[in-house]
Amino acid sequence: MKDQKLTTQDKFINYRLDTRLARAGNSPGQFHGFINPPVVHASTVLFPDYETMKSRDQKYTYATRGTPTTDALSDALDQLEGSAGTIIVPTGLAAVTVPMLAFAKAGDHCLIVDSIYGPSRTFANSLLHRMGMEIEYFDPHIGAGFGDLLRENTSMVLIEAPGSNTFEMLDVSAIAEASHQVGAVVMMDNTWATPLFFKPLDHGVDISIHALTKYPGGHCDLLLGSVSANERCWNQLLDTQYQLGVCAQGDDCFRVLRGMRTMKLRLQHHEKSALHVAEWLDGQNQVARVLHPALKNDPGHEIWKRDFSGSSGLFAFVLKDASETQVGEFLDALQLFELGYSWGGYTSLAVAVDTSDRTIAKAPQGGRLIRLQIGLEDTADLVEDIEQALRKIRQVEGLGADEV
Ligand SMILES: *Cc1c(COP(=O)(O)O)cnc(C)c1O
Repeated sequence: MKDQKLTTQDKFINYRLDTRLARAGNSPGQFHGFINPPVVHASTVLFPDYETMKSRDQKYTYATRGTPTTDALSDALDQLEGSAGTIIVPTGLAAVTVPMLAFAKAGDHCLIVDSIYGPSRTFANSLLHRMGMEIEYFDPHIGAGFGDLLRENTSMVLIEAPGSNTFEMLDVSAIAEASHQVGAVVMMDNTWATPLFFKPLDHGVDISIHALTKYPGGHCDLLLGSVSANERCWNQLLDTQYQLGVCAQGDDCFRVLRGMRTMKLRLQHHEKSALHVAEWLDGQNQVARVLHPALKNDPGHEIWKRDFSGSSGLFAFVLKDASETQVGEFLDALQLFELGYSWGGYTSLAVAVDTSDRTIAKAPQGGRLIRLQIGLEDTADLVEDIEQALRKIRQVEGLGADEV
């Protein structure tokens, strides 16, 4: 199946996940023993003669169709995801749109979880809709009722768990099994968990999507996405990437592969620190609710515990009875947490979440939603920063420093 690969590093396939993360995806033997893959900057690839050029069996033919650097990253991801093939695209958003374009068909029906990443919704509502697909959003808490939404012409199902910003869990295996009964292709945005904490293809998903921008990159300095497919979907996915010309550059692939070598260690810190901050927030008077599936009182906790092997550093909380002004006061008072989009890097970040584009999965009542990305700083400094910022929210309508 991997017709465009220089080499398949199957050497590590029988080792445990962490070993694969540390070692898979380069072939020192191919490059004079240098342990990391070379960064190939290329458009043209030369052929030795006309016969070879005509036959089309040379491994590399043009840089839009892969280079040894993009292949090193694809191979590593295949070994982590258990996929038949992985394409690398320029952004995490392209990792959502390219597979959707690969399987979109006018007149078909597409189901999307309502807590999907915002820009994925915009793409579905505009471009996919214009192509003639019917888009329907479903409640992340739908449970067994999901089966009732499937139609004969449902050809795509896009899920994300936990949900973007509101962190609802889904029974992925049940959704995949029901969807396959009508022949739909099931795609999952797995960015939050990374392949270390959840492997969608093991739960029946056909296509696993990652914003490599986040934990795999890990240093807030690049954009990249990956799409890993099972045998059923691989050829159509690869063909679509070729048709669209949406390919990645070697420098970014190299940096993601390097980031991945330390991803397990970084995630261990993100996980522990985020849980500590989440539990601390859960005990504060000014906090109405914490949305984090690894917390025992979270509605998604049972599914998370059953299916996931860990949690990452991104979660949200509801600032009790807060006005927009008070949210602004809190965010501006933070010293260590920075204000900024994206996550998965070493810096702690905070954003005010707007769920007004949702049809069903709105933020919980009782206040305003704030999302935190817990970085690699000392956890005690982060808690102190939040504590002092909560104290700075001015006392209006019963919320203020005297209630802390
Ligand atoms: C950030 C993100 C993306 C998009 O990644 P970019 O590289 O920023 O385009 C897609 N899905 C999820 C869940 C994300 O958090």
